[in-house]
This record gives sequence, structure tokens and C-alpha cells, in this order.
Amino acid sequence: MLQQLTDKVYYYPCTRGGRPLLGYVRGSERSLAVDAGYSDRHVAEFYAALVAISLPLPDYTALTHWHLDHSFGLYACHGSGVACDLTNLKLRCHLRNSTREGYREYLMHDPGFAAEFGHGEPITIVPAPIEFSDELTLNLGGVTARLFRVDSPHTYDSVCVHIPEEGVLFLGDATYGKYSESWGPNHARLRSLVRVIERCDCRWCLCSHGSPQEKSALLPHLYSVLERAAKE
Ligand SMILES: [Zn+2]
Repeated sequence: MLQQLTDKVYYYPCTRGGRPLLGYVRGSERSLAVDAGYSDRHVAEFYAALVAISLPLPDYTALTHWHLDHSFGLYACHGSGVACDLTNLKLRCHLRNSTREGYREYLMHDPGFAAEFGHGEPITIVPAPIEFSDELTLNLGGVTARLFRVDSPHTYDSVCVHIPEEGVLFLGDATYGKYSESWGPNHARLRSLVRVIERCDCRWCLCSHGSPQEKSALLPHLYSVLERAAKE
């Protein structure tokens, strides 16, 4: 079920199975989804939740990074996809690899992928048609969305989405560690990201695999992660 966070910001919650939270911002002229989701089924469930409370389907879908659970549903999204150039670069690379032998077996190592995609079910990968390099502001009518790239311990293409009028910051997976580093945080990158969050004028922070948190609760948590990392 869709959850309302503020007047114009909603989210479709994450699941224990590995699907990320999907965001939704309703402007008076256009609406924006934050992240595409894992598959066309994920997109369909999200859209059914929007329709159930008479919200329009999104005009834009912004990707927070290239990871499969956030981007593989893009081909089934309504309106235009929006991504930073580094995210699109990685998606184009996946698109090329998807025709090669062994690609699917490689993805199957991820238990989330194996749970989401049935045996032999086709994968459709598309890059986003609207591309930016560092920052892009979308005017949705009475509310704006500022998309900007950040230094993150999770991926090199991490994008945050700030909705200043609503005091909301979508962080994607930016605060998490890296799979190849056993999810341990890279100290310097996390510190850099923490500075971005400190400076951001917002009340709410949304990390993709958890519930929304107030900035006043997220920052102390990240400080303790940094402290632990410094001792190691
Ligand atoms: Zn991720």
C-alpha cells in the first residue's frame, strides 16, 4: 500500500525480499517516481497502488543508481526515465552483456534476482532517455525535485533526490556499503556523504531498504558507523 509521508511525497515500501522503496512526488503539473523497481511486476504493483488513491502515473522516473533492483523495471515505466550519465553507462554495458552467454547465470548469483525473475523469464534493459551529469532540477508544478550526484560508499553513480518544499531527501542506497567489500562502509566516501546530508535542508531521509527516518535520527546512526569504521 502506498504511504503518504508529506503533503506531496509518498512512498511504496521496500520488501524483505530485496525490493527497494519507490518514491512518488506529486506536483500540480507533473509527477515524479524515484526509482523504477526490480521488474514489470514491481512497477505494476506500484502503479496499482497509485491508481487506488487516484494519483496519476508518473511523468518522470528518476534512478538513484544502476543496481538491478532499482533499474530493471524502467522499460515498463510510464513517462520518461531520468538518470545520470554514469548510471546510463552501466545500463548500456548490461544491455550489451545481456545478449552474451552466461549473463543470466551471472545475475542468478544474486538471491534477490533469482527470487524476482522466474526461470527463463526475459530481462529487458533500457537506459534512461533523459540524462544529466552532475545535477538536474525538475519543476513539477508547485514543487521541485533536485537530482544530484554524490560521493557514496555504495556505487560511483549514486544520485540523491531533494524535494526542498517538502523537506524530503531520497538517498537511494547511498548510505550503504558495497557488495564487493562485504557491505562495509568506505570511511572517506561515507564522511563526504554525511556532510551532504548535514547541509541538506530536510526533515525526512529515505534510504531504499528501510523505512523513512528523520534526519535527526539518521545522522547519529551514520556518526556511529563512522566512529566504528575509524577504530577498525
Ligand atoms: Zn544498490
